[in-house]
Amino acid sequence: MNENKKVVRKKLKSAAAVSKFMADYYYELNAASESGSPKIAWCTSVGPAEILRAMGYLVYFPETHSAMLGATRMATDLIPAANALGYSPDICSYLTADIGAFLKGVTPLAKVYEGISGIPKPDVLVFNTNQCRDVQDWFAWYGEKFDAPLMGVYTHRNVGNVTGPLIDSIARQMEELIGPLAKIAGKPFELDELKRVVALSRECSELWKKILETAASRPSPLTFFDAATLMGPAVVGRGTQYTVDIYQDLLAELEERIQKKEGAVGDESYRIYWEGMPVWGRLRAHSELFAGLKANVLASTYCNSWIFSALNPEDTFNSMAQAYTELFVVRSDAAKQKYIADMLDFYKIDGIIYHDAKTCPNNTNCRYGMPQRLEKTTGVPSLTIQGDLNDLRLLSDEQTQTNVEAFIEQLEERR
Ligand code: SF4
Repeated sequence: MNENKKVVRKKLKSAAAVSKFMADYYYELNAASESGSPKIAWCTSVGPAEILRAMGYLVYFPETHSAMLGATRMATDLIPAANALGYSPDICSYLTADIGAFLKGVTPLAKVYEGISGIPKPDVLVFNTNQCRDVQDWFAWYGEKFDAPLMGVYTHRNVGNVTGPLIDSIARQMEELIGPLAKIAGKPFELDELKRVVALSRECSELWKKILETAASRPSPLTFFDAATLMGPAVVGRGTQYTVDIYQDLLAELEERIQKKEGAVGDESYRIYWEGMPVWGRLRAHSELFAGLKANVLASTYCNSWIFSALNPEDTFNSMAQAYTELFVVRSDAAKQKYIADMLDFYKIDGIIYHDAKTCPNNTNCRYGMPQRLEKTTGVPSLTIQGDLNDLRLLSDEQTQTNVEAFIEQLEERR
């Protein structure tokens, strides 16, 4: 893709520390899985991780594993194995790739981390339906496979205003998890420990927000494609001091870039917003495609999903309920439209890329007139690319390249 153009993309030094963090994270899980201690809880990516961590569980996130299946381009070949069990090719390709990998006995962890041969076994699986229903079915399948208890939080979706009764209903559901989780953990719940974890998670969230907001500088020191990888610690490690330390260093590096006016993409001419899931198997190709056109895809709804500004250690359950309900993916179209418009303004965006991810309607927001409505109110044009997060059969590289090149030309003509 885009072989003829000179591509200048600058690597961040902190990326190595993030890679080391992820290695440490998976080795710790692997050791626990082999020895049986500490206990392991599986959690959805925007699920109640703080509760689990505060109760002494190591927390494993199957979505991150499936994103690795996508990034290593293993996913596409594994999906049919899950289809054969009755999981449709049209549903979440995180789910189908991940279950397919398990059925085939393969994992990218074994390729990347020497000595790890499989995913960690769950002692309990905890989901939150705030993002979609697929996670519940996904976890239910594994719960049965490992004969492990399954529990969850049922969050309302298509939420306009996040009201008191709504928060209350989620907070009470979270509280109800405590008894069964303490029994499985074999130790009592300590509120002070939850407060400590929530405080660290909030600190992580604040740092991650500042990291993403550095992209408002011109030129931006960060790209969406870098952020999609750098967000690993925010997803799997929020609530730990290690994550806070990593992000303090990353933020310092980005601030240094800003001072030196050093952009992540050489000669940044167009500022682009990415709406929707990444195409994990094309992260690098897309990064090079845009950089080759002097376009920086510098901000996204997706990476913002791990900002939990409502978290408050003095009001643990209510604040977790609010943080996990006010997320973009949970909200109504009107709330989403306002959010994107605010982002376009904050990051001084020239154009939007909508990714129509065929197997994830939940993170696809271009099917009901949103691009047209937003262009009318903000004047910012957009391009929709057809694709998927994991299933590479659902995209055409040639078409994406042609459409993106034409879109950037269109931005140039508007100047
Ligand atoms: S939000 Fe989309 S990608 Fe994530 S688990 Fe649900 S269907 Fe899959």
